[in-house]
Amino acid sequence: MSLVVVGSMAFDAIETPFGKSNKIIGGAATYIAWAASNFTRPIKQVSVVGGDFPESELKMLEARGVDMEGVQIKKDQRSFFWSGRYHMDMNTRDTLDTQLNVLADFNPVVPDSYQDCEFLMLGNLVPAVQLSVIDQLKNRPKLVAMDTMNFWMETAMPDLEKVLQKVDVLIINDSEARQLSAQFSLVKAAKEIMKMGPRYLIIKKGEHGALLFHEDGVFFAPALPLEEVFDPTGAGDTFAGGFIGHLARTKDISFANMKTGIIVGSAMASFCVEKFGTTRLKELKHGEIETRIRMFRDLVSFEIELEGD
Ligand code: AMP
Repeated sequence: MSLVVVGSMAFDAIETPFGKSNKIIGGAATYIAWAASNFTRPIKQVSVVGGDFPESELKMLEARGVDMEGVQIKKDQRSFFWSGRYHMDMNTRDTLDTQLNVLADFNPVVPDSYQDCEFLMLGNLVPAVQLSVIDQLKNRPKLVAMDTMNFWMETAMPDLEKVLQKVDVLIINDSEARQLSAQFSLVKAAKEIMKMGPRYLIIKKGEHGALLFHEDGVFFAPALPLEEVFDPTGAGDTFAGGFIGHLARTKDISFANMKTGIIVGSAMASFCVEKFGTTRLKELKHGEIETRIRMFRDLVSFEIELEGD
């Protein structure tokens, strides 16, 4: 039984108020795999890269238990490229450039060896590709989670609506939730979005944490107050990787376990932002994760006696 991850593997160029990177390795599926491989293996990756994507990056992920059979390498084409600039608050950013390159005509082929998929994480990618992967799986996974972004709401809404109907958990940020639902209140937005398909909705609010909605229930996970945020790129994907990695490890898809999942996801995201790109995730030691989850527990636990208790 395995976790299948679908998403972009890419080059990014990032500008923050504190620094600027040249082309570095990024992509939603890259971050998801780095984060999730701390909790579960094998991870089976579905993506596409060009001949310019370093083989060493694929090898490093393979060494982490990430299967690359479903990653197509288009030798004479260029990898997906994304460039963004963060505002002073580091919570908002502008996309400066999106070059689809290999993603423009990506036709994913799910290998037979991926048919044991129990957990499916659809990282941010062309909705038609996300849909194709769901349709190629002969048995429906135990849980399908997906991420998406405003770019696809603006360019591929009909396909996005079809994918939404087939997933259990949607993970998006607050501005995307508002755009998707045309509601300002996140509670109203959640109600609207859950009518579109997903039974669970996670709304990420950057440095203000994340909300998990299900039916009439809602749970909140804070983000760890960090002294320095260096580069938030990939934090959302790292969050998703930690969340789905935790669920795949425990094989428990209850609401209660999803609450733990968003704490694990938040802890993973807090590492991601400490350095540019995937640097911090690559050097992460197992013991550090537990220490950080403990910090989350301390951050929110308090005692109070109430008359009705
Ligand atoms: P996040 O900061 O978690 O939203 O994710 C940032 C990552 O998403 C970057 O590494 C980009 O390469 C990737 N990305 C940005 N735009 C897109 C897009 N339109 N489709 C797929 N991946 C994207």
